Parts: sequence; C-alpha cells; structure tokens
Amino acid sequence: MFVAKQISFDLSVLATLQTKELSLQSTLQELSLYNFTVESDRPGGEVAMAFQDNPLLPGVILTERNRLLGMISRRRFLEYMSRPYGLELFLKRPIKSLYLLANTDTLIFPSDTLIVMAASRSLQRSAELLYEPIVVEIKPKVYRLLDVHQLLVAQSQIHELASQLIGKLYQQLEKANLELQLLATADGLTKVANRRRFDEYLDSKWHELCREQLPLSLIMCDIDCFKSYNDTYGHLGGDACLEQVAQAISSSVKRPADLVARYGGEEFAVILPNTSAAGAVTLAEQIRMNVKALQIPHIKSCVIPYVTISLGVATIVPDSELTPASLIAAADRALYRTKALGRDRVSVL
Ligand code: GH3
Ligand code: MG
Ligand code: MG
Repeated sequence: MFVAKQISFDLSVLATLQTKELSLQSTLQELSLYNFTVESDRPGGEVAMAFQDNPLLPGVILTERNRLLGMISRRRFLEYMSRPYGLELFLKRPIKSLYLLANTDTLIFPSDTLIVMAASRSLQRSAELLYEPIVVEIKPKVYRLLDVHQLLVAQSQIHELASQLIGKLYQQLEKANLELQLLATADGLTKVANRRRFDEYLDSKWHELCREQLPLSLIMCDIDCFKSYNDTYGHLGGDACLEQVAQAISSSVKRPADLVARYGGEEFAVILPNTSAAGAVTLAEQIRMNVKALQIPHIKSCVIPYVTISLGVATIVPDSELTPASLIAAADRALYRTKALGRDRVSVL
C-alpha cells in the first residue's frame, strides 16, 4: 500500500541518538531522518492516512514531476484539515492546493551541515515557524525530513559534551600553567629554586621585613674543591653530586618561608626570613653536617676524601638605606672567610 511503501522510519537511529557520542563536528547525517515524499498531485487523504498511521512523522515533502516543491508540517496540515470545510476542501483534492494556501517557507540543509549550525539557523526563524520540520538533502534531489525537536535534543547533548570538554581543557590548562610556573622558577638540574626565583623572593622578603623591622638571614653554600671533583668523576658525576647536595640542603630546611636556591654553578643560597643570626648559624651548621653525612667520595678533595661544603652566614634587619645586594655581599664575604680558614665550616658576618 502507498503509505507502507512511501514512509521508512529509522527508529534504530532514534535509539542510537540517546547513546551515540555526538560532537561539535556531528552533522545532520547522524540524526534520524524521515523519508516521506509524495507527488503534489496526490490527494490530501493519502497524506492524512500517513500521518494517522505514523504518529512520529513530522511532515511531508512535496515534489512536482520529481522536483522538490516544498514541505508541509503535520501541525499545519492538521490545522487546515480541522478548519471549517477543511476535510471537504482537501481530502480529495491534490495536496498542492493545501500547500499553496499554507505557503510556508521551507528550511533546506545539505546533510553534511553541522548540527550546531542547523540548530542555530532553525532557531533564528520566526516564532510561528520555529517548530516546522527541516528538509535535508541527503544527495542531489533526494530529500528527507528532520524533526526540529530531535535537532534541539541533539544540540543540547552537544552543548553538554562541549561544556564537559571545556571543563577538562581548563583543568589541563591549569596543570600546564602550574608546570610552566615551576619550570620558570626551578633549577632544571637540582629542582631547587633558580636564580630568578631567588632574586624575586629575596627582594619581596627584604621589603616585607623592612616594614616589620625583623631580621633577614642568608646562608651561602659552596661545594669545596668542586673543580677537582669534576676533573676526577667527570661532568656527569659532578651533576649527580650537585643534585644530592641540593637535596641534602633542602631537607635540612624546615620552615615554609625558607627558600633554597641554586645561586650559581656549585653555589646554593638559603633565604631565611624572620631568622636571627644565631638561628641561621645553627641551621648552616646542620646543613654542613647533613651534606658531609652523605659521604660522597671525593678522593682529590683538599679537605677530606668526601664532598664537603663551606658556608657563609649574614643577617640584616632590612633598611630602606640598604639593598638586598648588601646582604648577598655580606654572606659572600663570610663564605670567603670560610674558604680562607680551610673550608668545611661556617663563618658569620
Ligand atoms: P673552592 O673549594 O674554592 O670552592 O674550589 P672549587 O673548585 O669548588 O671552585 P671553583 O670556582 O674553582 O670551581 C667550581 C667548579 O664548579 C667549576 C665548574 O666546572 C663546576 N661547575 C659549575 N657548575 C656546574 C654544573 O652545573 N655541573 C658540573 N658538573 N659542574 C659545575
Ligand atoms: Mg664557587
Ligand atoms: Mg667551590
């Protein structure tokens, strides 16, 4: 019979739509499309029967000598049929007469149109056309019908997915930013703070303690006879030694405000905000012993056959007349004194 031949519902597509992963790239091809086309000289009664037998059918596509004439939605069709004399007027007459009277604009999209595009375009229509089905051209001169409700359901799924995606991307971005920040402030080899971070931190603590008039201490540490360590164990051996020493210094430091940094080649610096000279010397001594306790062999050392470090400590209550450089210079002078006194000890200025 006519209806059975003319209409093919793909309900399986409707079912897959619930589970199928749609994306921003999904096109109208991925939605269920209704195939109901009649020649416009067919009587309205045939269309009425088709609508009655297939409650999901959103409309009918009309052709004239196999060329697209337009589309009538189920809603509009039923509305005309229910008008006074509607049945008498349209039931036996060609459906074209109802179509010409209804005279609706038909929205046509190629099937490779993005769902998000089609949804946006269909929502731009006037309020009375908003729920009119859309005609989809699946190949040249072959048309199907798309229910707008289904299009909007798909659109909201895509929107949901896009929101989740943006959430994930945002998390990845935050993680990447954190890693980038770490890279920008950490020393690549030893993982302690780099010189840039040292300068920034010393500067900020200097100003803070200048306001509070509290002491700021700095410990400079320098590996003893490191040139001969490299000469004996090679540069890679030297790098491994630097990593171990940095780790020993870091684990000696307990307060969250203290900062261990690689100041230069084999020199490390420890910034100790709000720490007295006595406290800084005690910590410096602890650091010296912890490095020594590693017992890293250094047979060519000018001190003992293990890696040792020399330390210089300086403490200042920051003053607007002075600069952070004066604290560094003082700790450097103390370190120089340590070297002159025979290394592997702590001097204070
Ligand atoms: P002192 O006891 O007086 O400090 O003697 P020193 O040999 O430690 O001092 P010197 O300044 O003469 O030599 C420092 C050495 O540190 C020279 C340089 O090759 C080495 N060095 C600096 N940076 C690195 C690094 O990143 N990796 C390695 N393996 N060696 C480094
Ligand atoms: Mg040095
Ligand atoms: Mg050295």
